[in-house]
Amino acid sequence: MSKELIYTVEDEIHIQQLIKYNLESGGYRVLTFESGESLLNECKNSIPDLFILDIMLPGMDGLEVCRQLRENARTRNIPIIMLTAKSEEFDKVLGLELGADDYITKPFSVRELMARVKAIFRRVNTATAVESEIIKFDDITIDCSRREVYKGDKLIEMPLKEFELLKLLILNKGKVLSREMLLEKIWGFDYYGETRTVDVHIRYLRQKIEEDDGNPAYIETIRGIGYKFNDKISK
Ligand code: CA
Repeated sequence: MSKELIYTVEDEIHIQQLIKYNLESGGYRVLTFESGESLLNECKNSIPDLFILDIMLPGMDGLEVCRQLRENARTRNIPIIMLTAKSEEFDKVLGLELGADDYITKPFSVRELMARVKAIFRRVNTATAVESEIIKFDDITIDCSRREVYKGDKLIEMPLKEFELLKLLILNKGKVLSREMLLEKIWGFDYYGETRTVDVHIRYLRQKIEEDDGNPAYIETIRGIGYKFNDKISK
């Protein structure tokens, strides 16, 4: 199996070395960058299988790097893990909805880092195994091989996590799925009970697929438990 290549940008040298050492010990290839500009520059030559971006950087910050990677057709679908130092940054990552696939809050343990990276690659590899699968419900169409979602004939922009969440909900339509279950299935890792991550992503999904996201027809909230994709749409 070819080793996955990871680009990571972090200006704090000891953290950068910690990441590089551990990922390389885990069998990955790692290229480190000290600025967002140099990472973006390298992407003109070659692209990796995963990006790990620190947010606080001299010059261009990690959020801007993430935005630019998502705008570029060559790097649009490559997974991104953001490193966040503060809860305000955490909110920004979710709030700006830049399309990062995961985030790790500093300080993080080596075990946590490795688990997140493994989970990302496991999902990417599983995703490519399901080829040309089309899932339809009402006026929503999910094209699994192209990773695209349509409402009617309109393409809806959707980051990986939201895409997977919607897919899981539709595949299990009519069933109540707990927040904890969704967190584990989609994020692939125990977030130590940070189930609000699920709620935030559900909110984004509703804004995209519901006619009236304040009165959702598709995704029902099951109080105290989680969510259910309504299999009896009455509009
Ligand atoms: Ca930093």
